[in-house]
Amino acid sequence: MSDSPAPLLRAEGLVRAYHGESGPAYAVRGVDLCVRQGEFVAITGPSGAGKSTLLHLLGGLQKPDSGSVWLDGTCTDSWREARWAMERRKRIGIVFQFFNLVSGLSVADNVELPALLAGAPVKQARAERERLLSELGIVGKEHSMPGELSGGEQQRVALARALVNRPPLLLADEPAGSLDGKGTREVMRLLSRLHRRGQTIVLVTHDARLASSGDRVISFFDGRIADDVALDTPTPPRSGTSGVLKLEN
Ligand code: ADP
Ligand code: MG
Repeated sequence: MSDSPAPLLRAEGLVRAYHGESGPAYAVRGVDLCVRQGEFVAITGPSGAGKSTLLHLLGGLQKPDSGSVWLDGTCTDSWREARWAMERRKRIGIVFQFFNLVSGLSVADNVELPALLAGAPVKQARAERERLLSELGIVGKEHSMPGELSGGEQQRVALARALVNRPPLLLADEPAGSLDGKGTREVMRLLSRLHRRGQTIVLVTHDARLASSGDRVISFFDGRIADDVALDTPTPPRSGTSGVLKLEN
């Protein structure tokens, strides 16, 4: 046995089909994947390749037909929905394309909710919310409703909500997919910054340019990993923007 710690996330032999009238359609056809602590893995591929299904399997939002997922060395095969929900609260932050904020709750309440659900004292939830919102650049909007914010701002709130319980793993499914160029740059810049501070991230995107902000890029086609490439660690940016963000201008 090696001394290295178990990977934060491991999948083996993942298969998942959807069942329609014309029989099963395989969205994920046998995926092995290992994500180590601190990695920023981008999974990219065309629409319909099975990226969202794969991410849902990794976060327990869907169950595989076969294969297994290990979190931090623990096999999740026997986990039921309640266990997954609890583990997601603690260990896995998830950000989706369309934010999924609760429209009837203020920005502050949206961010604090997962902390309160996880049993954090009110004071601590508030302090963590304040820290995250100011870090993500949402200041003075605590009492706004999500619908009053721009798309980029809403996605930053969704990111704060995903991070409020300090999950070791962040899963993001097309987090910039519904944003304009400016919103996309904001979100990608934040992901890169989180990664530089040690956050483990699995990002799914159909946009190969956005994928290049990861330090490892997996090409996903037709339910399978076609390629898995470690990118050179980029030289730290001098101007405060990273290479991929410049492409957007
Ligand atoms: P991606 O995120 O790469 O666009 P998806 O995982 O959403 O890919 O979809 C992969 C395949 O599975 C597609 O062919 C899609 O039509 C199909 N699919 C996805 N979700 C469902 C569903 N709920 N029911 C039936 N087919 C689905
Ligand atoms: Mg998708």
